[in-house]
Amino acid sequence: MLILGGTTESRLLAQRLQARGDTAVTLSLAGRTQAPMTQPVHTRIGGFGGVDGLVRYLIEAKIACLIDATHPFAAQISKNARDAAQRTHTPMVALSRPAWKRQQGDIWTEVADMESAIDVLGEVPRRVFVTSGRQGLAALLLAPQHHYWIRTVDRVEPPLNVPHAQYIVDVGPFTEESERAILVSNGIDVIIAKNSGGAATYPKIVAARALRLPVVLIQRKESAASDAAGDVDTALHQVLSALGLGIERGV
Ligand code: NAP
Repeated sequence: MLILGGTTESRLLAQRLQARGDTAVTLSLAGRTQAPMTQPVHTRIGGFGGVDGLVRYLIEAKIACLIDATHPFAAQISKNARDAAQRTHTPMVALSRPAWKRQQGDIWTEVADMESAIDVLGEVPRRVFVTSGRQGLAALLLAPQHHYWIRTVDRVEPPLNVPHAQYIVDVGPFTEESERAILVSNGIDVIIAKNSGGAATYPKIVAARALRLPVVLIQRKESAASDAAGDVDTALHQVLSALGLGIERGV
């Protein structure tokens, strides 16, 4: 089977399937991060060349089940996966962590994209913690009056052409304590984040709630995978059932 990855969940699912010993798993990464985590299974890196390329791969590698376990914001590859599965009649399972839900005390402004997030900041200079990833950072050029603390997995190269930007290279999971320390020590007054879901990056939301800080939260695009499994266990069951395999191996 082929797992389209780039998430913690894809790695965990690959591990669980591999541990059974009766499946051959390949994990596919886009190749965006410079030093991707060591993966527990055979891994291929790089795009397929659009839907046609993915169709070719599915046929040539005789893939029995395609699993889309990519990040909820990776919309193009998910669309390609659905199209390619349909064209090749390959059974497909989607795994997507549920979005975070607003809780009492959250001060969220939900927006569609990075440009709208920047709009929400307004004209008066603010101290902004940006955790939305490298893609879309160009929107910050639209509002150079703010002071940005930008956290990414890999360095932002070249740095953005804005007068006040500091860069933090770090990878989750984070803790509420460490997130609170960043927010307080830098005098942050607003956070820009994606509603990625999952536990690894949720502590900043918890810290913001405790400190009564606003969060500008970029929403996911309307997903066609509304029937996606929300966790690794559910996805595992769906994959095994698509392959006609039992779960009695206890993994
Ligand atoms: P995207 O816009 O949906 O995909 C753009 C292109 O990248 C795809 O058309 C495909 O190229 C290639 N690609 C994407 N994921 C791939 C995979 N797992 N294996 C092989 N090729 C892949 O994706 P993105 O938003 O740039 O995200 C890229 C990767 O980073 C994804 O695997 C995702 O899980 C991970 N990620 C994304 C985010 C995010 O916020 N977007 C956050 C964390 C991790 P071809 O058309 O040539 O096949």
